[in-house]
Amino acid sequence: MSFATINPATGKTEKVFPSLTPEELDALLDRAVAAFASYRTTTYAQRARHLITAAELLEAEVPDVARILTTEMGKTFAAAKGEVSKCAAGLRWFADNGERLLADEPIATSASSSYIHYQPIGVVLAVMPWNFPLWQVIRFAAPALMVGNCGLLKHASNVPQTAAAIEDLFRRAGLPDGVFTNLYVESKDVAAIIEDPRVAAVTLTGSERAGMSVAATAGHALKKSVLELGGSDPFIVLASADLDACVRTAVTARVQNNGQSCIAAKRFIVVDEVADAFLAKFTEAMASLVVGDPFDPATDVGPIVTEAQRDELVGQVEAARAQGATVHADAKVPDGDGWYFAPTVLSGVTMDMPVAQEEIFGPVAMVLRVPDLEAALDAANATTFGLGSSAWTSDREEAQRCIEGVEAGAVFVNAMVASMPELPFGGIKRSGFGRELSEVGLKEFANVKTVYVA
Ligand code: NAP
Repeated sequence: MSFATINPATGKTEKVFPSLTPEELDALLDRAVAAFASYRTTTYAQRARHLITAAELLEAEVPDVARILTTEMGKTFAAAKGEVSKCAAGLRWFADNGERLLADEPIATSASSSYIHYQPIGVVLAVMPWNFPLWQVIRFAAPALMVGNCGLLKHASNVPQTAAAIEDLFRRAGLPDGVFTNLYVESKDVAAIIEDPRVAAVTLTGSERAGMSVAATAGHALKKSVLELGGSDPFIVLASADLDACVRTAVTARVQNNGQSCIAAKRFIVVDEVADAFLAKFTEAMASLVVGDPFDPATDVGPIVTEAQRDELVGQVEAARAQGATVHADAKVPDGDGWYFAPTVLSGVTMDMPVAQEEIFGPVAMVLRVPDLEAALDAANATTFGLGSSAWTSDREEAQRCIEGVEAGAVFVNAMVASMPELPFGGIKRSGFGRELSEVGLKEFANVKTVYVA
């Protein structure tokens, strides 16, 4: 098997990379362990300099890197440029804050001196998805490298050029060979890498299926794992919400990244009082989106990542229709090549429909009507996922009730869910465990060493 860039806008295979042979993989694991032995002794200031250099390189090369992202997975060029800039900012945040956050923490005890001392744990494997092919990797790599760990990347098989570009970025940023390594390995080879004694821990961002497999292997090998999995985020609209602002954000929250985001709003749960007005405005806005060539600046929504994924969306919408949902879809889709899918709104959805329990990974919004706030929370929580959530209200008490009552790793009030370096990111329930980003993410792969000097 090999790794291939297959352009979702054309269906053409643009570049193919071979998988590593077992001997090549073995040599790269040896090299990573050797690199860790010396990288762990570097200072925070040295590590920060590498991260800043990587940020500077990205900032200087935004369009070049963005072109790779758009070509490999179809996000609009504007979104890809935004992702590259966000990665530079993320690298800078960990460079600027890592030393402070990882400083020894004195704790008063009966000892003459006692404190927490943070140390790296070793070589960490990152299994990553294609949907934010640069950001997902940087948000693993920046904190891991700042702590002093070495990274191994098993990227999704459809973004091999992005994977190579990230390894090259860190090499040009001055990190010694072996500190950050791209591995062209198949998902079936991941278990053996997790089990390998040269690997200390694993983080995976991806589907539940992959998460179950990686967590099982890590558990069996008694190794730390962090899982960032799927979601079906609720977007709760209450009667006091600023409806126009809410609808504008609702559209972006659903169709960002061509609808292929774990934290996209997927279930729009609207109280009866404003449900008709919301549905009318939202449907109109969704239908007016421009679907097409992701490199065209006029495009709002590019193609779906693969033909199979596009076909799955078609199936999910048709199943919902058969189960009683009403389909509103008027956006035009380009003729010819490319795996395009029109932004679609499904109304009349209830939480007992299978579609409401699945993750819809594309520009398809489900609208659910509920009588009141408590019913909105019940619907929001009636899924196995618990990643992000968004609540729209101008009432402080209602906002507080949502903050307390929603079962999710994050709640954003009068805003769409987003990831940023300062804030922890992750889910509960079947959306995963552990956190990325922020001080919490920085310390996920650190040895929190207790020091007690009598
Ligand atoms: P995926 O199929 O699970 O793939 C993700 C990564 O896992 C890829 O590198 C893939 O490699 C690998 N993989 C697949 N099956 C595996 C297995 N059994 N063992 C080990 N590795 C395995 O997910 P996807 O379809 O690419 O990505 C979309 C999913 O990611 C969605 O569910 C989305 O919600 C989730 N996601 C979550 C977050 C978050 O932070 N919570 C962020 C972004 C995306 P191959 O490509 O070689 O198969």
